[in-house]
Amino acid sequence: MSDTLKTLEAEVEVPSGKKPGPTGGSKSVYVKNLMAEVKAKNPAEPEFHQAVEEVAESLQLVLEQRPEYRSAKILERIIEPERVLMFRVSWQDDQGTYRVNRGFRIQMNSAIGPYKGGLRFHPSVNLGILKFLAFEQVLKNSLTTLPMGGGKGGSDFDPKGKSDGEVMRFCQSFMTELFRHIGPDTDVPAGDIGVGGREIGFLFGQYRRLKNEFSGVLTGKGLNWGGSLIRPEATGYGAVYFASEMLGTRGQTLEGKTCLVSGSGNVSQYTVEKLIQLKAKPVTLSDSGGYIYDEAGITAEKLAFVMDLKNVRRSRIKEYADKFKGAVYTPVDPKLDHNPLWTHKAQCAFPSATQNEINGFDAAHLLRGGVYAVAEGANMPTTLDGVKVFLDAGILYGPGKAANAGGVATSGLEMSQNSMRMSWTREEVDNRLHLIMKSIHRACRETADQFGTPGNYVNGANIAGFLKVADSMIDQGLV
Ligand code: NAP
Repeated sequence: MSDTLKTLEAEVEVPSGKKPGPTGGSKSVYVKNLMAEVKAKNPAEPEFHQAVEEVAESLQLVLEQRPEYRSAKILERIIEPERVLMFRVSWQDDQGTYRVNRGFRIQMNSAIGPYKGGLRFHPSVNLGILKFLAFEQVLKNSLTTLPMGGGKGGSDFDPKGKSDGEVMRFCQSFMTELFRHIGPDTDVPAGDIGVGGREIGFLFGQYRRLKNEFSGVLTGKGLNWGGSLIRPEATGYGAVYFASEMLGTRGQTLEGKTCLVSGSGNVSQYTVEKLIQLKAKPVTLSDSGGYIYDEAGITAEKLAFVMDLKNVRRSRIKEYADKFKGAVYTPVDPKLDHNPLWTHKAQCAFPSATQNEINGFDAAHLLRGGVYAVAEGANMPTTLDGVKVFLDAGILYGPGKAANAGGVATSGLEMSQNSMRMSWTREEVDNRLHLIMKSIHRACRETADQFGTPGNYVNGANIAGFLKVADSMIDQGLV
């Protein structure tokens, strides 16, 4: 063995007796050095640091066995975006006032396919949040088995409280810069928080006008103009399919299980829909103002009310408790160190709102309330402390990059249909989605077993997602 490889091996060794992985306290010198460099080079980006740290801890297991990844600087390269675009978005509101927002697109990694990942419009959006999302997207897209690289973008624009005209003018201005950087074989954005069917329509219209071309440049499109059946449902349905697979390893199903769901947007709505279809009992929903608890369970009729409330009237979840007797609304209390939504008794939880919505206290409350299966519809909804609580307890914990991969997988199916200029039936797309979620689940479990951490879906997802990208990067040389 060469001296360089010997040095590399010594650096990746973890303290004896400790299993590496994102459970804290077992970082190798290599990961410690890497994290120090990540923090120095990317200051004030805590979400990006968090995402890299979780993955790097899992990857210690791989780097021990495959030192060639170290010498090829795969991890160092994979955390550096291939390209970062940041641009001014000027637009005019209904009063005629000039407004300025910031637009972004992170083109993170294209080793296995065109950049692919959503656009987020939310006032909290900044470079660090989009880099964490783009980084996670690379591994998630790899897990889907489809040929998609990873990217993410968006703006600090807040669509809440804006008229349709204001949202349209903003989207047109945003696309007037973005269009020159994307394309069906280059980068294919989709929706995320604050970007649903309405926004994708305005963005697509402007792209088509500027390029004089009708192509599958965005996913989440309307059915009349290139969209795929089941795309709106896919992330929520996929998270529930993933939870079913996890429960299946213990000979259980979702039938009769009480489920906590956070958020009330796209992912939450279709999580609740699939849970109802599978005879589970969802009892909570939330938005940034607070949450509702409906002990009797959210039924199909109540969900129809939520869909109208959120997608048509664009109003607040509080109205659910005004409408349905027995449901209780609790407003957000910023003084609390935990979220009371996660204190209710249940067996399963589906965090589906945003990053870091479950901290260490929340994770402990979930366990105390009886939860033993968590499938993350949102991206990185659990802090590193919370992840440690779940992994130490040995519950069925499906991290976002595996459990919510159904959305981007179905975006991949939309891209295939666009290339072939055909549309598949609802059943066909749903079957493919179901098969993809089963295969992601299998890959996570088998990889976790293979690397000596059985049942650890975090290690399984991080490693399985990484290997395909890493090997492709090695094949393609130093680029
Ligand atoms: P959405 O339709 O815009 O809904 C987001 C929901 O989360 C809303 O109820 C929103 O409440 C709440 N929320 C957002 N930011 C919040 C914050 N800072 N604090 C408290 N609540 C907040 O978005 P979505 O598409 O469902 O996305 C939800 C999560 O799933 C995100 O983490 C996203 O990255 C992830 N995800 C989405 C997809 C997809 O296909 N859409 C795919 C994979 C992962 P307000 O309305 O009050 O803001």
